[in-house]
Amino acid sequence: MIISMKPHATKEEIKHVRERIREFGYKVHSIEGEERVVIGVIGVGDVTACLESLEGTPGVESAVRISAPYKFVSREFKKERSVIPINGVDVGGSEFAMMAGPCSVESEKQIMETAEAVAATGARILRGGAFKPRTSPYDFQGLEVEGLKLLAKAHRATGLAIVTEVMSEQDVEVVAEHANIIQVGARNMQNFALLKKLGKCSRPVLLKRGMSSTLKELLMSAEYITAHGNPNIMLCERGIRTFETAMRNTFDIAAVPLLNELTHLPIILDPSHATGRRSLVPALARAAVAVGADGLLIEVHPSPEKAVSDGAQSLNLDQFRTLMSDLKPYLELWKESRVAATVAA
Ligand code: PEP
Ligand code: MN
Repeated sequence: MIISMKPHATKEEIKHVRERIREFGYKVHSIEGEERVVIGVIGVGDVTACLESLEGTPGVESAVRISAPYKFVSREFKKERSVIPINGVDVGGSEFAMMAGPCSVESEKQIMETAEAVAATGARILRGGAFKPRTSPYDFQGLEVEGLKLLAKAHRATGLAIVTEVMSEQDVEVVAEHANIIQVGARNMQNFALLKKLGKCSRPVLLKRGMSSTLKELLMSAEYITAHGNPNIMLCERGIRTFETAMRNTFDIAAVPLLNELTHLPIILDPSHATGRRSLVPALARAAVAVGADGLLIEVHPSPEKAVSDGAQSLNLDQFRTLMSDLKPYLELWKESRVAATVAA
């Protein structure tokens, strides 16, 4: 159950509601948003009696029963899509969010050249890893804070919003200082200490699905962040491990319409990590638009053959320009259907 308090509910009204819920044997999890307090009711008990007793209680706006184990991120809780404003882009709204850039930030020249090319295509968000989760400890681990500074410089030069990964709790603050969106990588999807810390952070989070995680686990991880205070989350499908070895991963594209039924959060697709092959990226980018994703995350590098990580799946700048211009008619249809859906709702 979730109880939404009225925007101007008094402290006493909120306290009274919390006490009533506890009397029914439930635990209370409150989230104090800017506008209102929302109270999650957790545990086992007589839902109907508790709902009845709360309806009409002073300060209560609505009380809804939520059967999913993920409460705040579920569609049952919020019917309309969440729109996350990021540096002028409404992710989840009527603009498709294109995020592009190198796997790793390697040098000033590399990131600035990429940022300028990305901005010139009309894309609005630059990706680039400064803290890199590498399978081998001997591989390039990222420029770390130096990389963050280069991203911030690219932001100042081009106006692009920045998305970059954080790998540990200790780095959340410094990453939040330099980035507009904090990425949680697939390998950290269930790093609960990190998720809790991001709950206390004011930056939107791009939460990538773990390579062996179910959609329910992905939603439970998003719930961690929300339950700790940060509702601004985008989910990212980046391919999962299956028996198929022809590609780096298997792209679970059906996750998009299913997640759209289960959650109100925006969904971003990453065809680069999903396939590991640049030749497959354009077709899957079109599929992402057609299936109703809210955006794409694509690896782009000025010289993919020289990239220190993920060169084989990175598009060069020309290939990215072509992808963007080929996507245009698809994006127009996407926009029409998104606007129509919003009007219908
Ligand atoms: C990345 O985006 O470069 C990355 C490491 O992705 P993932 O966590 O999906 O492997
Ligand atoms: Mn990568």
